[in-house]
This record gives sequence, C-alpha cells and structure tokens, in this order.
Amino acid sequence: MQAIQNFYSLLTQPKKILITAHQKPDGDAMGASLGLYHFLIQFGHEVTVVSPTNWANFLNWMPGCEKVIDFEAKREESITLINQAEVLFCLDFNVLHRTKNMEPYLKKADCIKVLIDHHQQPEEEAFTYGISDTSKSSTCELVYDFIVNAGHADKININVATCLYTGIMTDTGSFRFPSTTASVHRVVAHFKEIGLNHTTIHENIYDNFSESRLRFIGQALLNRLDVMYEYNTAMMAISKYDLIKYEIKTGDTESLVNYLLTIQGIKLGALVIDRDEERKWSFRSKGNFDVNTFARNYFEGGGHRNAAGGRSSDSLDQTVKKFKQVLQKYEQELQ
Ligand code: 5GP
Ligand code: MN
Repeated sequence: MQAIQNFYSLLTQPKKILITAHQKPDGDAMGASLGLYHFLIQFGHEVTVVSPTNWANFLNWMPGCEKVIDFEAKREESITLINQAEVLFCLDFNVLHRTKNMEPYLKKADCIKVLIDHHQQPEEEAFTYGISDTSKSSTCELVYDFIVNAGHADKININVATCLYTGIMTDTGSFRFPSTTASVHRVVAHFKEIGLNHTTIHENIYDNFSESRLRFIGQALLNRLDVMYEYNTAMMAISKYDLIKYEIKTGDTESLVNYLLTIQGIKLGALVIDRDEERKWSFRSKGNFDVNTFARNYFEGGGHRNAAGGRSSDSLDQTVKKFKQVLQKYEQELQ
C-alpha cells in the first residue's frame, strides 16, 4: 500500500468511482462514504456508494443516502458497478471480509483501491494507496484530512460537512472518548463556520427511534444484564425471541453495549446478539484492557483497543459459555 499522498494527483481527472464501507454501516461508515461522495462529484467523477448490507433507518436523513445501493438488495447492479469502477474507496474497515458477500468481487476487481480507515492491523497488501491511522477519532476525520491535505478545503460544502460531522460525532460518543483531540474540535469549528446545524444532526441520530426500541432497552437492562464483579465485567445476551418481540431492526441495538460501562467499576462490557446468520459480539472497555486483541483471539473479530466486535457460529448459550470461560484467564488483568 502506497501513501495516500501519491493518489492526490489522480483526483482531478474524472473517473468511475465506487465507494464502499463495512457491512451494517454505522454513522462513521455512512458519513465517510457520503461525505467523500459529495466531495468527489464536484470534480465531475461518476460516483456511486454501494453498502454491503442494509443500514439503520436513523441514517436515512443523510444527504445522498437515498442514492446508496444495498449490495444484498441489488446484487447484479452492484457487481456491474464494481467491475466498471476505475477507483474503489474502502472506508472504515481494513480487511475485505468485513464487506461480507461483496468480498470476492472486491478482491477480483482490477482497479485502484484506496483505503481510508482507523482500525488496527490493516490488510495492507489488498490496497494500492491508503491511510490507516488508529490515533484518529473516526474515518470521517481522516476523509476531512484527505480533502484538506490534497489542497481542496474549498470544496467542503454543507453536505460534505453534515456527513463528516455525523461520523465524528457518533465515533467519539458525542465528543467524549479519548480520541476527541484538539484537531477534532478544529474540524468541527470549520464545519460551524460554513453553517453546520449540529443540533438537528444530533436529534436525527439519537432522537429518531420507535417506542418499542425504548421498551426493548428497558427490558434488556432489567432482565438480560449479567454483572460479574469478580471480573469487573458486565454482559448482556439478547435472544432471537427479544428481537422478534420488540421488532428490533438494524441499528436498534447499537447503543446498548454502552450502558454496561456506566456501572461503577466495570472495565469490560460485552453484548451478544442472536442474529439470524451469526451471534454478533460487541466489546467495550475502559483503560488498558485491549478488546481488539480479545475479539481477535477468541471471537473472529477486531476493532480498536476500547471498542471492538466479533462473531461466533455457536448457539447463543454456547458462545456465552465460551465468553465466561475465557474471562477466567483475565481475572488479574481486569482488576
Ligand atoms: P460494534 O461493537 O459497534 O459493532 O463495533 C465496534 C468497533 O469494532 C467498530 O469500530 C467496528 O468497526 C469494529 N468491528 C466490529 N465488528 C468487527 C469484526 O468482526 N471485525 C473487525 N475487524 N472489526 C469489527
Ligand atoms: Mn469508525
């Protein structure tokens, strides 16, 4: 993978460009994709955003979201677009398998592949150019840097700013995680200067749920919480029954894991959801406990030191059992 600076000169010649992000794109993945889209179209490029899967409804208000193609819903069209692309941007992931069923097509694609990401341990050989910086708050911050460093700060319009702000806000937990640097606040200051309405964005993302999702959270906190004080760990397992009963959709479970770390003294929070295709884990930690390594070693996942995800093909009960067994090895580390 060459440094992304070597790609800058290619920006101004119109091309067929495809942008993609990780499956079940979150605010950062969708914000980076659409922010980059609104930047690139100003050069006359033909730009399409293809998401590997569907996404949470609370992202639908984002400018340009109506043009995003869901690979699973429009497979043939997506494959044609991948094959025709001259440049492929891969945002907010760094191993191709995070694009799920799109992976084989992206692997085969004979085009320039550009990585912009902030997760640990990138699969560098899969990309032509790229920037992988784990110190950055979000991929949206990296897209901002990319635009500014390439000399195009003047092209940051309100659509670009709205999309990039969304990812910075969601990935920093609304500007409270340690990744919220002075640079992050400078980026936001720039967005405010060009007219960003941050209150509306916050409401669109965080005050945009169904009644049943709130009731679901209530019952999960009441009935599904398992606190293991000897390991300073809180865990929650959500069954298929709960998902069906409360009509839970993509994105409805996203913030649930954060409640676990609100208990005094808890250093590790783990949430597992019994999805149709797999058991999906979310891990969050405080301090030095490295959930990226933990997820990589035991649950086929990864991410960041304090926030990572993983998966398992075992049953819900089995994967919970495995988690509790593995936890025993970390009793000292979690004190
Ligand atoms: P979440 O728990 O919100 O799904 O994910 C937390 C962080 O870990 C996010 O940055 C996400 O992109 C990353 N992540 C989630 N699942 C996986 C996975 O299976 N593999 C890798 N490498 N990263 C993941
Ligand atoms: Mn991210």
